[in-house]
Amino acid sequence: MTHQWTIPVLAYHRIGEPKDDHVPTVSPETFERQLAFLQRRAWRVVEFGYLVDRLARGTPPERGTVIITFDDGYEETCSVAAPILHRFGFPAAVFVTPTDIGLPGFMTWDQLRAVAKNGIRVGSHTLYHTYLPLASREEAQRELVESKRLLEQQLGEPVSWLSYPVGGFTPELQLMAKAAGYQAACTTNRGVSKAGRDLFAIRRIKMTERDGSPLLLWVKLSGYYDLFRRLEQPA
Ligand SMILES: [Zn+2]
Repeated sequence: MTHQWTIPVLAYHRIGEPKDDHVPTVSPETFERQLAFLQRRAWRVVEFGYLVDRLARGTPPERGTVIITFDDGYEETCSVAAPILHRFGFPAAVFVTPTDIGLPGFMTWDQLRAVAKNGIRVGSHTLYHTYLPLASREEAQRELVESKRLLEQQLGEPVSWLSYPVGGFTPELQLMAKAAGYQAACTTNRGVSKAGRDLFAIRRIKMTERDGSPLLLWVKLSGYYDLFRRLEQPA
């Protein structure tokens, strides 16, 4: 009964008006519609830590649970997404690159601390958003260790989760992340996570503006997405 082990982890990037860049962006209206869909269908939005805990203990997550995550730490995570999440009472996690904090388009430290106090847990997205498989061992080590240290110093709380930039990881990097003190790491690969698999390769479903369609969102959430994607891909 492998299906019992599936739990969708949604990966958002920016919530806001689309800009002329390559950041996957979901409009506030669509984001709201997606959350309303979850609420209407009685999906239980749980913290990322819920999955980490279940995976670590080898206990299947409850059916009908879903997790919301954000990558990169865009300013809109604080100004647009957080208030909407708050209205629905949904928790989330955001994976940030500390060297981007305070740069134009990204949250400031104050904003990050504010969202962290309001139901959005913070994880690391490495120090410089480096594609780790191409980094030297020393570089990768620094990315993992220093980002964690900086975030913990600024937030005053443990940072135990990691998101690999562009989803890039290797078995060696997984071990390094574990040794650096992380409890779990996620990729940006599409698809639903299966518990009992790897705590250091949690798969996520990349969310886009198109997922405002309730049917497509349902397909993604219900674990048929891999199949759907294969069918969708051009020959
Ligand atoms: Zn990223």
